[in-house]
Amino acid sequence: MFDANEIRKDFKILDQTVNDEALVYLDNAATTQKPQAVLDAMDRYYHYDNANVHRGVHTLAERATKAYEEARETLRGFINAKDTAEILFTRGTTTSLNWVAQSYGAFVNEGDEILISYMEHHSNIIPWQQLAKRKKAILRYIEITENGELDLADAKEKINAKTAIVSITHASNVLGVINPINQLAKWAHEHQAVIVVDGAQSTPHMTVDVQALDVDFFAFSSHKLCGPTGIGVLYGKRALLEQMEPVEFGGEMIDFVELQDSTWKELPWKFEAGTPNMAGAIGLAAAIEYLQAIGLDTIHNYEASLVEYVLPKLAAIDGVTIYGPHDVSKHTGVISFTIDGIHPHDIATALDMEGVAVRAGHHCAQPLMKRLAVSSTARASFYFYNTKEECDVFLTAIQATKEFFQ
Ligand code: PLP
Repeated sequence: MFDANEIRKDFKILDQTVNDEALVYLDNAATTQKPQAVLDAMDRYYHYDNANVHRGVHTLAERATKAYEEARETLRGFINAKDTAEILFTRGTTTSLNWVAQSYGAFVNEGDEILISYMEHHSNIIPWQQLAKRKKAILRYIEITENGELDLADAKEKINAKTAIVSITHASNVLGVINPINQLAKWAHEHQAVIVVDGAQSTPHMTVDVQALDVDFFAFSSHKLCGPTGIGVLYGKRALLEQMEPVEFGGEMIDFVELQDSTWKELPWKFEAGTPNMAGAIGLAAAIEYLQAIGLDTIHNYEASLVEYVLPKLAAIDGVTIYGPHDVSKHTGVISFTIDGIHPHDIATALDMEGVAVRAGHHCAQPLMKRLAVSSTARASFYFYNTKEECDVFLTAIQATKEFFQ
């Protein structure tokens, strides 16, 4: 039986007071807390195994290389990629998406269409804007429906013979909605387009299988799923990665260097220039093992139970508007909302006085804010270490905030 109170013992950071109140951390879509197992794995690496990877023949170098490459295998299993050659370590989702836009972007021609949606994070907008400018390609946006879901009729219509790339978030960091990637991948492939998926907000909360989804590229960040900052993954289908040029050049990624030209290592190393983030990879693998021990389906179901509990109660508060679907089957644990007459930053500040950490702002999604006709929202985002009691504290703090400002 899953018991969040037991789980919380692994997260010392949660056991503290903020402004004399017990901390209620509801900013998990921004970044998550790290269990002791992750901190221990990184600590152990630095205490006993630290050495540069791939080059040394001494024992520590071999241990570090083994741990780094074993981490890659853990990541492969996590998203069910076919081969570790398809797992590239990056700095995070942003870097992963930039790499696809820069490297796969070489295959985009003038007049081609790149299709994203109105609910994308800036990381999945700006690299495509830059590519579109460079290649004189056309950047198009899939609409969202009234209740904050992807407009599938619009998507179907906009994926056409001119489409070269479809790049879509798996789960929105604002609306909480989970998008039907399978369907989009099918439509993209019918038109020989590739599909790129921003998995920053899905991988922490649900089982992801890149083969079952049939996606061409898939990006995610370690820090959103209990791992350290500064590392993430780009998955790419081997056949595509083979054709692509590296984005960064230097040590570690070369085979031979001549005076005027050089050749690259095989996959995945040809993309990983410079000394990699070894401790990060090891911490990320420890985070994955931690999540897998609980079970991604268990995590998803537990979070759904929290959303099912808190969302209707929040929605019932007079003056509260919730952005995104209310149907938990389409949801991760992200709830964006506004309260009539109170600025979202004031909501976040008032909640902080009660020990409750939520985010306020545009959430790196300014085109979406414009579409929703708001300048910002408050956002409570839940993870498996949150409890029903914390949901109650949050709801009480919202009531208190309303009373304070009205
Ligand atoms: N995409 C989505 C949906 C996100 O929520 C985030 C982070 O907030 C990112 C991309 C960017 O992730 P990172 O800052 O780890 O590169």
